[in-house]
Amino acid sequence: MAGSKSAALRAPQAGDGAAHTSRPGASDIHARLQNAILEHRLLPGTKLGEDRLADIFAVSRARIRQVLTQLAHAQLVEIVPQRGAFVACPSPEQARDVFEARQVVEPAVVQRLIATLTPAKLAQLRRHVAAETAARLAGDQRAIIRLSGEFHVLLAELAGNSALARAMRDLCAVTCLIISLYNAPTRHSCRSDEHAELIDAIAQHDVAKAQQLVREHLAHIEQSLVLWPGEGGDDLESILRE
Ligand SMILES: [Zn+2]
Repeated sequence: MAGSKSAALRAPQAGDGAAHTSRPGASDIHARLQNAILEHRLLPGTKLGEDRLADIFAVSRARIRQVLTQLAHAQLVEIVPQRGAFVACPSPEQARDVFEARQVVEPAVVQRLIATLTPAKLAQLRRHVAAETAARLAGDQRAIIRLSGEFHVLLAELAGNSALARAMRDLCAVTCLIISLYNAPTRHSCRSDEHAELIDAIAQHDVAKAQQLVREHLAHIEQSLVLWPGEGGDDLESILRE
């Protein structure tokens, strides 16, 4: 078990043995934990013991605690008093809240991006979608998951509003957890052709179409999740008050 957790946390390109030549800083540990969570190598509910993580990264427990607190602020980690830290497990209700928030935020992101669009930004978006397509062709599941989420963060970063970008980073990270919890088997988080269509609408400065596409895209992701067990069968109030 310890071996598999070490493997999940190791940077994919780091060579065995060579990775221990220097102690990783807090930001490096943060990035490795975050990537392992976002790529679904560490699954929701996984215990993140301070001692084990301190051993794995060869740093103090205080440094681990600092990183876990940061990840808790980003809602990727849940800290339970007396029990420790776990990879967060968003509830179906939290998942629906996240998609409702994204339906509000992302049309605004797209509008602002079109207003500030440059050829360089457009080229960067097209390069990103090309990387997504390459990952799909290679069957690289980890890269597909990560790049799908990063596409939406990139839209917000290129839109040039730092508050929107920060909100999108948090929303996309939680979405990644939600997908690993509730996605129907064999479904992907984002359909690559929908990203390409969205970029075409952005390139044409067609705000209405781009906003419609982004809303539909988010609805497709939400529909691919299993968030509605029993179609409201757990709504005791409406069932019992009849
Ligand atoms: Zn997407």
